[in-house]
Amino acid sequence: MKLEGKVALITGSTRGIGYAVASLFLKEGANVAICGSKEENAIHAIEKLKEEIKIEENQVLPIGVNLKDTQSIQTMVEKVIQKWGKIDILVNNAGITSEKSLLDSNDEDFDEMFEVNVFGLLKTTREVVKYMKKTGGSIINTSSMVGINGGRNQVSYAASKFAVNGITKSLAKELGPYQIRVNAIAPGVVGTDMMKERVTEEMKQRLIQMTPLKKMAEPKDLAGAYLYLASEEANFTTGTIIQVDGGLVM
Ligand code: NAD
Repeated sequence: MKLEGKVALITGSTRGIGYAVASLFLKEGANVAICGSKEENAIHAIEKLKEEIKIEENQVLPIGVNLKDTQSIQTMVEKVIQKWGKIDILVNNAGITSEKSLLDSNDEDFDEMFEVNVFGLLKTTREVVKYMKKTGGSIINTSSMVGINGGRNQVSYAASKFAVNGITKSLAKELGPYQIRVNAIAPGVVGTDMMKERVTEEMKQRLIQMTPLKKMAEPKDLAGAYLYLASEEANFTTGTIIQVDGGLVM
């Protein structure tokens, strides 16, 4: 098992990509804090995981967190430290999206996008690094193909994901001396609830046609790249943004 004895905190792991990453990390022996915007969703996700894979009782911790609130983020990190005493892997995966033109976007739209996708990620990382500095570790940020190529009517989302890429590279430089590796995954189109809520069947078919692998990813198709970055196999990999998009962006 590749993550035996490791402790992972994964934001946004009650569903979608984060849930699939949590499932694979658990299978590889990690202890995982399952975090979502509501604690009951985290508890429900753990019940679902227990139906799907074999998990030790003490291997999971459900946490409700509001990434717009610094105190809530500090409490999340303290809960993990209280339970397991360290954090080896941080996956900053929680995020929101929006499809609005520049002129349709108001100040609140810009603020909310950055509060969750950028400031929430930065604050979580700061709180975790206070502990991770002592042990070293791996930080994996979820970016997006929109953070590589931009997206029409996605200007605030794109700005937030370009920021995530900048944070990834800057922190790789800053935290390297502590043996903390910082990388990002840039997914293409993934069939999560977030995506299903926004993409029509016609758009989905168009995206599939534009993708060299001629299919849309399921969340589990992303998880292997996170496992690589979390594991010792990536011990000389930092500051990279790995595209996992079926070849859509190149
Ligand atoms: P999702 O909507 O299925 O899940 C989002 C998760 O984030 C949930 O667990 C939710 O509780 C959590 N979350 C949202 N706002 C929060 C807040 N304020 N505080 C705490 N938790 C909060 O999303 P997904 O599709 O799995 O996306 C996960 C990540 O992948 C996001 O960062 C997204 O931008 C990125 N991404 C997704 C796709 C895609 O096609 N689905 C493509 C590229 C990038």
